[in-house]
Amino acid sequence: MFPGTFAYAAPASLQDAIGLLDDPQAKVIAGGHSLLPLMKLRLAQPTLLVDIGRIPGLTYVRSDAGYLAVGAMTTYRQIINSEEVHRSAPVLAEAASEVGDPQVRARGTLAGALAHADPSGDLPAVALALGGSVRAVGPNGERDIDLDEFFVDMLTTSLEEREIIREVRLRVQPPGAGAAYQKFDQPASHYALTGVCAVISLRGGTISSTRIGVTGVGLKAYRPTAVEAALVGKPLEEEAVTAAVQTVTDGIDVQGDIHAGSEYRAHLARVLTHRAVLEAGQRAHPA
Ligand SMILES: Cc1cc2nc3c(=O)[nH]c(=O)nc-3n(C[C@H](O)[C@H](O)[C@H](O)COP(=O)(O)OP(=O)(O)OC[C@H]3O[C@@H](n4cnc5c(N)ncnc54)[C@H](O)[C@@H]3O)c2cc1C
Repeated sequence: MFPGTFAYAAPASLQDAIGLLDDPQAKVIAGGHSLLPLMKLRLAQPTLLVDIGRIPGLTYVRSDAGYLAVGAMTTYRQIINSEEVHRSAPVLAEAASEVGDPQVRARGTLAGALAHADPSGDLPAVALALGGSVRAVGPNGERDIDLDEFFVDMLTTSLEEREIIREVRLRVQPPGAGAAYQKFDQPASHYALTGVCAVISLRGGTISSTRIGVTGVGLKAYRPTAVEAALVGKPLEEEAVTAAVQTVTDGIDVQGDIHAGSEYRAHLARVLTHRAVLEAGQRAHPA
């Protein structure tokens, strides 16, 4: 399959890139591993690709005032190999290592994965569980968008037209917290049929706080806030966790397709949330 005809620009700065996005048919390209497949299927037909990969200074992972700051062109592989990620948010590396195959991990970016907002993408669930923001630049300057308000619908985020993610800012895992990502994947693409990330803090044997992100189930990644609330104050035990995860798909329009029906996905969501919570809890160091 071949994409339609398009022009290509490789601006030297974000300001130049934003200027090029004045053309309503223009689209940013980073690693290209989501956009190019869509173009080949003619599901996206931009007439101008604005490649941000040649802009200096967009590839980094650093710690910044309680956040892990990840530059827009930082790939999965760079995240997996980052000592800072292993110190601050090892679950990010764990999930990134489960994305696609080595070629995808060598080119695909965290920022691109969040901007694309694929309902089966792995990293949106991890980003929601860690919490944080997306730093975007556009014609009106720079702003931080809370991740809880970032995913709007299938393939839709709260980025405005002509806004570009400059940096993803993820909260470092709280001291003593444990985190885990559990995924049941589609065996050919490795996309998540369902994926769940949990970050758990314990006081004694009791769960004192939790954040959970779920992907692959609804039209967008989400936090099952009723499950999070139900877990707080409960012991980290099979029975309590099983009871708490039952509402994980409440209020969600659970999707079904040729790979997995909606009942099966809902079942996976309960099973994987249960596993992710227990695994994260076992990795936590009680306060
Ligand atoms: C064979 C294959 C297997 C895959 N398996 C998985 C998998 O198992 N799990 C998974 O989660 N993903 C999977 N992916 C998708 C892959 O992770 C994508 O590369 C990644 O999600 C998108 O990052 P990218 O840099 O390639 O974005 P691109 O494809 O370049 O862009 C994707 C979208 O985001 C926009 N965009 C990109 N960067 C920015 C930015 N900085 N600011 C604003 N908008 C931006 C683009 O305009 C485009 O709309 C797979 C892809 C392939 C081809």
